[in-house]
Amino acid sequence: MPPFPPEPVYLDANATEILRPEAKMAMIKGMELIGNPSSVHFYGRQARQALEEARKVVASFFGRGAGCCVFTSGATEADMLALHAFGFRGKRRILVGATEHDAILQGAPQAVTLPVDGKGLLRLDVLRSCLQDGVPSLVCVMAANNETGILSPLDDVAALCRDYGAFLHIDAVQTIGRISLPPDITAGASIALSGHKFGGPKGAGALVLPEDHPLEPLIPGGGQESGRRGGTPALPNIMGMAAALEEASRQDWGPVRSLINRLEGLVQEVGGESVNAGLDRLPNTLSVILPGIAAQTQLMMLDLDGFCVSAGSACSSGKVSVSHVLRAMGLGEKAGQAIRISLPWNVKANQVDAFAKAYQEMAKRLLKR
Ligand code: PLP
Repeated sequence: MPPFPPEPVYLDANATEILRPEAKMAMIKGMELIGNPSSVHFYGRQARQALEEARKVVASFFGRGAGCCVFTSGATEADMLALHAFGFRGKRRILVGATEHDAILQGAPQAVTLPVDGKGLLRLDVLRSCLQDGVPSLVCVMAANNETGILSPLDDVAALCRDYGAFLHIDAVQTIGRISLPPDITAGASIALSGHKFGGPKGAGALVLPEDHPLEPLIPGGGQESGRRGGTPALPNIMGMAAALEEASRQDWGPVRSLINRLEGLVQEVGGESVNAGLDRLPNTLSVILPGIAAQTQLMMLDLDGFCVSAGSACSSGKVSVSHVLRAMGLGEKAGQAIRISLPWNVKANQVDAFAKAYQEMAKRLLKR
């Protein structure tokens, strides 16, 4: 018997992915480990071994040695650690893209903001002219935008950073397990990731460093993580994250990409305007404006119909604020009229079809077509 009322359909994977079963199993194993990885006795060594295996999985995903991976509570902390170590303590000027996540924007309010063009792509000419003055700089650029799914021109950004000797930090949260980042592009950069964005648990992330790169801690504490991040690591979460990463990297995203492309066509039929149409984007993300209709109205109607999507990024207060990302792209008042549909790794075609039908009915009603 199907549940009544039917379970809502979850299409908000960029806020947090659905937990992968392999991650859940690994977490259960982690919860059963008694020891603290810092203890020298048997149970401590057992926990330490599990921690170091997870570290190898994460670091090798980026083609780096285990020593490059510093576990954190998530990407907000990993981004902050990079800002602290390479920006503030490194005495570098900080340059950030206008469409970065608040983890970066709020972490470095004094940073120089680099504009994006109407397609959401970082203005490389502005980056170049900033770097030309020779001031030592930290450049923070996301691999893909969490609201629009638009991929950044990372190869060009990385080349400019190399040419002008700037340190590059990549917030790769939304691409991990969905799009591969070529090692020649990421070489020399630090990378932030978050387990719950690729099917792991909330509460684990990592900052992956260039080989042999020193790191001053943000939290010195008891010297864990080789003195780079104090505090007892959340072992079950870290083990779950590593298991999710292995699974995510094996996933074929082709079917999900086909579903998102089909959905794009269906929302456009009824007047929806796709923000990321024709652009290099994540395989699971669609950002759609319904002209003249507040995002909050759309969200509430879709929620009543049993579909969980979002407007802009999820924020802790539960309120929907106008997207700084779409504003930076020059969308003006339309920035408050876009919703984001982000398909989870295990989405079913019939869920997308049902959403498309609900969206079409909503659009016809609201636009009185
Ligand atoms: N960076 C990006 C691009 C994100 O999408 C998010 C989460 O929404 C974060 C950073 C913060 O990640 P976490 O929830 O692990 O702190």
